[in-house]
Amino acid sequence: LKARAWDARFEDARTEDGTRVEVVANLGNTAHARDAVSRGAEGVGLLRTEFLFMAHASLPDVETQEREYREALDALDGRPLVARTLDVGGDKPLAYWPLPQEDNPFLGLRGIRLALRRPQVLRDQFSALVKAADGRPLRIMLPMVKDLDEFRAARAIFDEVLRELGVSRDGDRLQLGVMIEVPSCALLAPSLAPEVDFFSIGTNDLTQYTLAIDRGHPELSGESDGLHPAVLRLIQMTVQAAHAHGKWVGVCGELASDRQAIPVLVGLGIDELSVSARQVPMVKARLASVSTTRARELAALALAAPTARDVRRELEASQ
Ligand code: PEP
Ligand code: MG
Repeated sequence: LKARAWDARFEDARTEDGTRVEVVANLGNTAHARDAVSRGAEGVGLLRTEFLFMAHASLPDVETQEREYREALDALDGRPLVARTLDVGGDKPLAYWPLPQEDNPFLGLRGIRLALRRPQVLRDQFSALVKAADGRPLRIMLPMVKDLDEFRAARAIFDEVLRELGVSRDGDRLQLGVMIEVPSCALLAPSLAPEVDFFSIGTNDLTQYTLAIDRGHPELSGESDGLHPAVLRLIQMTVQAAHAHGKWVGVCGELASDRQAIPVLVGLGIDELSVSARQVPMVKARLASVSTTRARELAALALAAPTARDVRRELEASQ
C-alpha cells in the first residue's frame, strides 16, 4: 500500500501553542460537502437547511430531506455535521410558506418562532436528520432562540421524535444546541447552558440585534461590525456560561473568518470556527500563527475598547 502523502490541509487546526480549535464549513447545499472536506474542513459547522427547502416547489417530505442530509453525511465520512433547522422569515422568504405582512419582519415571525407554530415541519426535519445520520455524528441547532422556553419547546418535539425512532441520546454523537443570535440568549446563557449540548454564535444576527442595525442596510453596513465590544461581551458571557457546564461554543457568522477577529475569538475561548469552505485554509493558517496567551491579551484589549473602531485600531497597532 502506498502511504498517503502528508497534506497540511488535512491537519487538525491548532493555535501556535497547540490548542485545538475546530475549523469547519458553512454550507447552503449538501452537494458542496465533499468540496469543503477537500479544502480541509473538519466537518460542517452550519448547514443552512432553508436553502434546501427553497430549492423545492413545495415542502420536501421526510424521505426527500433524509436523502439530501445523507448526501452531506456520506461526504463527511464520519466528520460531524451541524445542521440548523429551517430558518425562514426575516430576510429569508419561502415561497410556499407565505407569511403575514409584518412592519418589522426581522422582529417578527422567523427562525424557531415560526417553526414552533408549525411543529410538524420541525418534527419532520428532526426525523429526517436523525434517520440520515444513523449513528454518525450529528449536531442539530435551533435558530433565533430568545430564551429557555423556546429551547424546551423544541427539545420536547425532538425527544418525542427520538422516542418514535427508538434512538437514544446517550453519548455525544447526537447533540441539540442553540444558536446565539438574539442578545437575550447571550445574557441568559447561564440558564441555557445546563440544558443545551452546545452553543453556536451567529454573529451576523447577533450584531444586527445588538447594534440595532439592519444586517443588509446599504448605508449603515460600515457601522455594523461584529468586533464591536458590545458584541464581544455577549460572546464572552456565552463562552463563560458554556464552559462552566462543560459545553462547547462555536462561531458561525462572518466574524469567524475575519482575520482580525480570529485571535480575539480564540482569546475569548471559542472552540470551533465555521466559515465558508474557501476560507478554511486561511483560518487554519491564522490560528497557527497565534498563541493562546497572545490571543487572551488581544481579547482583553478588545473587550476594554469603547467602540468597534477602537477595537480595530488597537488590534492593528498591536500586530
Ligand atoms: C448568523 O446570523 O450569523 C448566521 C450564521 O445565520 P444566517 O447568516 O444564516 O442568518
Ligand atoms: Mg442568523
